[in-house]
Amino acid sequence: MQIKFGENIKDFSESVSVLDAIKAFDRDVLKKTIAAKVNGEEVDLSKQLSGTDEVLSLEPIQTDTRDGLEVLRHSTAHLLAAAVLDLFPGTQLGVGPALMEDPRYGFYYDVIAPRQLTEADLPIIEKKMREMAKKNLVYRREEIAKSDVLQIFKERQEPLKCELIDEKVNSETASVYHIDGSPFIDFCLGPHVGHTGKLKAFKLLALSGAYWKGDAENQQMQRIYGTAFATQEELDAWLKQREEAEKRDHRRLGKELDLFSIQDDYGQGLILWHPKGARIRMEMENLLKEELQRRNYSFVFTPHIAKRDLWKISGHEENYADSMFAPTHIEGDDDTEFRLKPMNCPFHIGIYKSNQRSYRDLPQRYSEMGTVYRAELSGTLHGLMRVRGFTVDDAHLFVRPDQVREEVADCLDFAIKVFETYGFEKVKFELSVRGDADNKIYLGADEEWESAENALANALQERGISYERIEGEAAFYGPKIDIKIEDAIGRIWQLGTIQLDWNLPERFQLEYTGEDGQKHRPIMIHRALFGSIERFFGVLVEHYAGAFPFWLAPVQVVVLPITDRINEYAEKIGTELKNCGYRVEVNLKSDKIGAKIRDAQMQKVPFMLVLGDKELEENKIAVREKVKGDIGQMTLEEFKEMARRLKETRALTNG
Ligand SMILES: [Zn+2]
Ligand SMILES: [Zn+2]
Repeated sequence: MQIKFGENIKDFSESVSVLDAIKAFDRDVLKKTIAAKVNGEEVDLSKQLSGTDEVLSLEPIQTDTRDGLEVLRHSTAHLLAAAVLDLFPGTQLGVGPALMEDPRYGFYYDVIAPRQLTEADLPIIEKKMREMAKKNLVYRREEIAKSDVLQIFKERQEPLKCELIDEKVNSETASVYHIDGSPFIDFCLGPHVGHTGKLKAFKLLALSGAYWKGDAENQQMQRIYGTAFATQEELDAWLKQREEAEKRDHRRLGKELDLFSIQDDYGQGLILWHPKGARIRMEMENLLKEELQRRNYSFVFTPHIAKRDLWKISGHEENYADSMFAPTHIEGDDDTEFRLKPMNCPFHIGIYKSNQRSYRDLPQRYSEMGTVYRAELSGTLHGLMRVRGFTVDDAHLFVRPDQVREEVADCLDFAIKVFETYGFEKVKFELSVRGDADNKIYLGADEEWESAENALANALQERGISYERIEGEAAFYGPKIDIKIEDAIGRIWQLGTIQLDWNLPERFQLEYTGEDGQKHRPIMIHRALFGSIERFFGVLVEHYAGAFPFWLAPVQVVVLPITDRINEYAEKIGTELKNCGYRVEVNLKSDKIGAKIRDAQMQKVPFMLVLGDKELEENKIAVREKVKGDIGQMTLEEFKEMARRLKETRALTNG
């Protein structure tokens, strides 16, 4: 048997474990290795490799990679379940996956314990986990007949696991994992760490209600959340970041600053934008509109519902129905059914199709702040981050193949310009390509893919943008570039996408007349920078910790008269600034000036103009900046000049 590891190939005469095979190639690699891939399939280090004619390609999965972290977190979820079983015999287990995209948690396990668990149980369970971790208990895989697996869980009185096995296992056998020395057995594909001693940095974080399979009709369960990292340093850093994130939580700040609300009477996941939030949103949209106009996009508006048949043509009925609200119709009218839109794309296609297009008309660039609706389960909703109705800063470009590179390059410029304006210095780009196309069905010819992938890569390189190339992550209908940003406390947010698509042009039979007089199919580019304006707004609230820069601040200036004698002067100053287009409040309450300043400080207003007898006499204003405090007296003209500069340059600080 031959095994390939990196560039090296070795012969192994007998069966060898993955661990020993790696050891034979490189002992140092082993230190950080917790699982491996054999011919691309993830396996335990204990797996025996034996007699085969093919050359096995072996790759380590290391703890400092995403795959490694996933194995670590998934293994910790098992340890959690083992500890719960040990402490609360008779507990029924649901599922326990690693969470890789959730900024709050790293894994969970759903359980039904003999008694309701409380927050107070978490430290006890965590302590038990540590005890078990210290004992280096082995994760042992067993491959047995499906009927035996079912028998095991039947005897253990775990009907949920039996249900899962029935659903998921289509073969004769299935794998179960034990943690030896504990009462735990799980039906699982693996891989896991070799033994519990590999789990050194974990913490339980929260307890919440959950339903079996996320369905409210099913049994109520309890979900125990935790996280795990490869090292204690990473865990500590993450916990610190989490604490900082809690201070900035957009749901709390949204309330304190009166920006938005979500009310049960209107429905969970539906956002009410209050006047102050709406002012920020208008500024966000203004920036986009300026850039869209500069880049020759056309603005369009489209309805929120469309005939159900349209969603059949677009493929949403077939592939996306779970995320769509159910069809509706007009009582007493014909049978026409309608559905709320989950995406804007088919509507922009309708506009493209409304006319004959020639190669000279392309590209067509349609942009819309398009509100869409998704049937998200209530358990997944989270503030502004996951909602049921949101607005996409959407655009669709209909282009000729030879225009892809240039159009994509302009989308990249656009993205960088916009995110820089908000002060996101670290913008990351990921190019998802088809990769090894063997095991997936991709639409379109090889040449089409090659030229499209090259166009995207060239656009990135041309702009000097460093990017990560991700093989095998393209959609079946085209490659894409994902845009991610890092916020003020180091969290990564996946936002927009530049997605190439030859599926929808095909489905809707889009055409243009080429220079050759023949009909050709355009390529469609779906392009959004924020993805969801609601979610990006949530990111901004947390990024700035509620202290929006001058150009975005819902109230930019408050005028604070020290005594009633000054009220008239204060109102005059306020009116003059309002007439210049600034968002100004004049606080005429009879509170002490200290209280008025504190109030403005709490509302994170960039400038306070404090007016007393002296200011009135000299026809000046005393200016306080929210961070620096008192910045001295000036004339109103001087202040206006400073404000104009901050607004026009969309400055991030008031320096
Ligand atoms: Zn597992
Ligand atoms: Zn689209």
